[in-house]
Amino acid sequence: MSVIAIENLNKSFGAFNAVDNLNLTTEDGEFVVLVGPSGCGKTTTMRMIAGLEGSTSGRISIDGENVTEYSPSERDVAMVFQNYALYPHLTVYENMAFCLKVRKWSKQQIDAQVRKTAKALDIEALLERKPSALSGGQRQRVALGRAIVREPRVFLMDEPLSNLDAKLRIEMRAEIVKLCRRLKITTFYVTHDQLEALTMGHRIVVMRGGVAQQIDTPQNIYDTPVNTFVAGFIGSPPMNFVNAEIENGALVGPGFKLVPQGTVADALRNRAGTMIAGIRPEHLSPQLDEVKADAGTVKGRIELIEPLGSQVMIQVAVGRNLVSAQFERGPEVEVGKEIVLVHRPNTIHAFDSVSERSVL
Ligand code: ATP
Repeated sequence: MSVIAIENLNKSFGAFNAVDNLNLTTEDGEFVVLVGPSGCGKTTTMRMIAGLEGSTSGRISIDGENVTEYSPSERDVAMVFQNYALYPHLTVYENMAFCLKVRKWSKQQIDAQVRKTAKALDIEALLERKPSALSGGQRQRVALGRAIVREPRVFLMDEPLSNLDAKLRIEMRAEIVKLCRRLKITTFYVTHDQLEALTMGHRIVVMRGGVAQQIDTPQNIYDTPVNTFVAGFIGSPPMNFVNAEIENGALVGPGFKLVPQGTVADALRNRAGTMIAGIRPEHLSPQLDEVKADAGTVKGRIELIEPLGSQVMIQVAVGRNLVSAQFERGPEVEVGKEIVLVHRPNTIHAFDSVSERSVL
C-alpha cells in the first residue's frame, strides 16, 4: 500500500504544455482513473509517475519519499500497457518469472510467487503456453499477472482493455477492480471511456488540454460537474445544453422552462441574464398527465427515435435546439409527433455563459 503525492507537476514539449500544474494526493490503496479526450495528457502523466518521462517541474513522492529524480526501477511501480508487451519467445511462466529473476529471487521463491499470482488470476492452466497461443483476454490477464507478481508499490495501467471486445472489456473491468481492491495496491488507470472511469475509480481526474478540470468521486463528478466540459464528457448520452434566461428562478427559452432546486436555485438568486442550462437525457421523460403550472417542461417535435432495448432515446427539436431524452420504452413516441417532456426534481445544472463554469 502506498500514498502518492503529485505536486505542481508540469511537462512541456517545447512551448506546448502537455501537463499543466497537476496536484493530487492519493489515499492508500486508492484506484484513481485519469480520463479525457485524446491528447489531454493522460499518458504523459502516467509516464512521469512511472519515471519513463522526466517532468519539466514539480514533484512526485511515494510514501513521503521524493522519487522525482528516480529511475523507473527505483520507484517500484509496475505498468500495464494496452499492447500487453509480453515477451513472445517466453512462456507465461517465464514472462511472470522474468522480473523476479532480475531481482535475484531463488528458484523456490519464484515458483511459489508465480503460482500464487497465477492462481489469483485464474491462469494456472496457461503457464506453459507462449503468448501467441493465448486469446486477447488471456494475454491481458497474463500482462496483469506479470505486473502484480512482484507486488509493486504502485500499479499503472494505460488503457489496458482497449484491445478487447466489448463483452470481455466489461468482464475484465470488474476483475481488475476486484483484484486491485483485494491487493490494496494504489492504482492509476488511464482510459478515454467515461463509463470505465465512472465504474472503476474511487476518484476520477477529468483532464482537458493538460489541465485537470475536476478531481472527485464518480458520484460527485456526475452530480456536480464543475464546468460544461466535465458535464458533457461524463455521462452517456451526453448532457443537453441550452442557452436560457433567468426568469423568476427558472431557466427559460423557446420551448422550455427548467426549474432548478436546492443549491443551484440558491446560486441563481443573485444572478441575471443568459446562462447555459444543462439537463441529462435520463432526467427527462414524457409527461403523460396534465402538466402542473410550476413543473419544468421541454416541448418540441420528435426528430429521431433510437430503441435501446428496455429504454428508448429520442431527439426532440426544441426551438433551435436538439434535446435528447432517454426513458423506459412506451407507446407515446412517434417521429414527427409533438411531445412534452418533464424533468426530475433537482436535476438542472447551470453554467456561466462566458466562463462555462458551474454556478455552484
Ligand atoms: P491518447 O488518449 O490519445 O493516448 P493522451 O491523453 O494520453 O492521449 P498524451 O499522450 O499524454 O495524451 O499527449 C499529450 C500531448 O502531448 C499530445 O498533444 C501529444 O501530441 C503531446 N506529446 C506527447 N509526447 C510528446 C513528445 N515526445 N513530443 C512532443 N509532443 C508530445
